[in-house]
Parts: sequence; C-alpha cells; structure tokens
Amino acid sequence: MPAKTTSTQLIHHPYEPPAGFAAPQPGVFKASTVVFPSVAAMRARDWKSRQGYTYGLHGTPTTFTLEERLCALEGGKQCLLVPSGLAAISVVALALLKNGDEVLIPDNAYGPSKALAEGELAAFGITHQLYDALDPADLAARISDRTQLVWLEAAGSVTMEFPDLPALVRICRDKGVLTALDNTWGAGLAFAPFDFGAVEARVGVDISAHALTKYPSGGGDVLMGSVITRDEALHLRLKLAHMRLGFGVGANDVESVLRSLPSLPLRYAAHDRTARELAHWLAGQKEIVQVLHPAMQGSPGHAHWRALCAHDGGAGLAAGLFSIILDERFNQAQVDRFCDSLKLFKLGYSWGGPVSLVVPYELAAMRPQWPPHIRRGTLVRFSVGLETVDDLQADLAEALGTMAS
Ligand SMILES: *Cc1c(COP(=O)(O)O)cnc(C)c1O
Repeated sequence: MPAKTTSTQLIHHPYEPPAGFAAPQPGVFKASTVVFPSVAAMRARDWKSRQGYTYGLHGTPTTFTLEERLCALEGGKQCLLVPSGLAAISVVALALLKNGDEVLIPDNAYGPSKALAEGELAAFGITHQLYDALDPADLAARISDRTQLVWLEAAGSVTMEFPDLPALVRICRDKGVLTALDNTWGAGLAFAPFDFGAVEARVGVDISAHALTKYPSGGGDVLMGSVITRDEALHLRLKLAHMRLGFGVGANDVESVLRSLPSLPLRYAAHDRTARELAHWLAGQKEIVQVLHPAMQGSPGHAHWRALCAHDGGAGLAAGLFSIILDERFNQAQVDRFCDSLKLFKLGYSWGGPVSLVVPYELAAMRPQWPPHIRRGTLVRFSVGLETVDDLQADLAEALGTMAS
C-alpha cells in the first residue's frame, strides 16, 4: 500500500496513547458510531447488556459510569439516562402503558406530568385519574383492573404535601400495580426510594424517576433525567422502549453531572439548611398566612416526612424548596410587585442550582378545588440556592416591605 495522504493520516492515525491514565474525573467518551473489531463481533452485538458497546445511543463508558453512580445514590440496580426529567416520566409511561390502560397521578404532581396524561396518553387511549396524595383510601378506591401504573411524588410539586409513601406503596403492592416515584425532591438523599428503612423494611417503589436537571446537575445548566429500577425484567421493558424511542444524552452533559455528583450531599444539605431558616423566618412575618415546607411542624404531611426522612429523631433532610401563602388581602398586583422586587431571588423555573429562584403560582387554576389544607391567599414558591442566608433574608424583607403600599 502506498504512503497514506495527509487527509487519511489525520483520520486513521496509528498513535495510541499509553493505557493506565488515572485522574480524579473519569474520561469522557463521545460516539454515535462504535467500532467493532470484526464482523463476528458486530453480529454478536447485544444491545441489552452493559458488557459491551453497540452504538452511542445505547451507551458509552461515560454513560455507564454515571448510571452506576446514580444506582449507588438511589439504591437501585439498573439505570437509564434520558434527555430531561420529563423524558424520564414519559419513557416510563410509553414503556408500561397501552391503549385501554389507566395511570393514577397524585393531585399535587409536577404539572407537565399531568399535561402528558391529558395530551399524548389520552390520544393513545390511555386514561388517567388524579388521586388525593394525602389520602391512601382515595388511591385504593381508584385502582381498577385497568390501572397499570401509579405515580408518586414526595413532596408534591408547588404545594409541598408529603404523602404517606409506605401506605400508598403497600396499597399498590397488594393490588399488583407498579409504582413509579418522581424522586427529584428527595434526590436519593432525603430517603431511600427502594427501601423505606425504619418505617417499613424492604418496601419501596418499583421505579424511581429523577430530574437530574435539579440537584445532581446543581448548576442550572444541564437537562437530564434517569429511570432507576431494581428488577431486571422491569428494567428490560423500560430499556426496550428507551432504545426504540431513541432517548440519548450528550457526553458533555453527562460529564457535567459526573463532575457535580461528588458535591451533591454537601450542596443538598446546604440548600436544606438555608431553606429551613428562611421558611421559619417567613412563618413569623405578618404578610404570610402559611408556609408549606414538609420539615415544618403543621405543614401538610409533616408527620409522614418525619417518619420517612427523620425517623432517627434527628433533623432529617429536605430539599431547599418551599412555598408561602400570602394573605388574601394582597391583590395579584401586590404579590407580583413582591416577586419583581426580589433581587437575589430570580424569576425562573426549575431548581437545584446555586441561584435562588421564585415563581408566583395560580393555585386555583392548578387544582379542580382549592386544597382544604391550604389557606386562602396567593402562593409563591421559592427554590433556595447557595447564597448566604442573611443576604436572602434581607432580600425577602425588603421585597415584603413593597407590598404594604
Ligand atoms: C423539574 C422537574 C421535572 C422535570 O425535569 P426537566 O429536566 O425540567 O424536564 C420532573 N419532576 C419534578 C418534580 C421536577 O421538579
């Protein structure tokens, strides 16, 4: 063979770096194409196992590494990575539900999860019902022969009710219905999704879906989700749908999450500490009639939070997320002015990053009825970042002052 041209040499270069490179961070592997050593190896490829590689969409050393670490975080055995937290919710639905089936969703669930049921799932002939997250008997009464999946969320989005998870899971177990938890709030730290431990050993959910976008990313700059299981057969059902739907994640994004993961427990604890301090301070302010934070006495489901997340009698753990109800004497314009006046709390969705965020919600439009355990008024949700608590408190105090006029 004649000497290769420059172009070809730039593509097919013989140099191989020495093996054995070691550094704190795992290397980043990028691929759509994965190269096989022989036709025989190509024919023998196995998309389902993590023993080898077939195509970038189905796994690289980088994605496998993150999957293993997330399994360690949540106490799972198998993991799928998807491009967002919402994709984790949708892949579970698309893998497990078919025409004629029904899915049950808590009434306080993440809004886009309900929207998926109302939109795509309804169009596929899959029905849904909302159940009262604080009433296990209501869930039990809604389970029918058509119920194939029950979603759980602890704490609930926006209104922060903490359900009696072991009771809800027990009902589903007894009726043979799969449970999927949106574990974004707990992040694998506040409680163990697959084993409710002291409350009820070896009882846990079948599937944990996690918006890695939030705490595992920690930067407010990555969208990703995971679907974790402990049962190989269930994992394979999910994995086949995941492969057929083509839900891939980018190596750079996986690298970002891998880089943030070691600091996750420290960041989560810091968010929690600051959020609890602010929530307690806000509870004492005259403009506010209720603070919704599961670790606070009197918050809806507080006893369930304590049983699951602080069963050793200690302080327990909670996400840095809470909502307040502003007295109904304030009109929407005054509440909007309060939110607009905040300087450190930025107006924006999502949570889990260093920057504190605030969102005013219209609770009346989110629920068929005003929840009886929530006082009348206007709801504002805070996601507490990593700023100093005194600075955040001063920001809140100043903004509350603008409402009086
Ligand atoms: C943010 C969020 C999601 C969706 O995550 P994305 O990555 O934004 O799609 C799902 N569930 C909960 C509870 C969330 O807070």
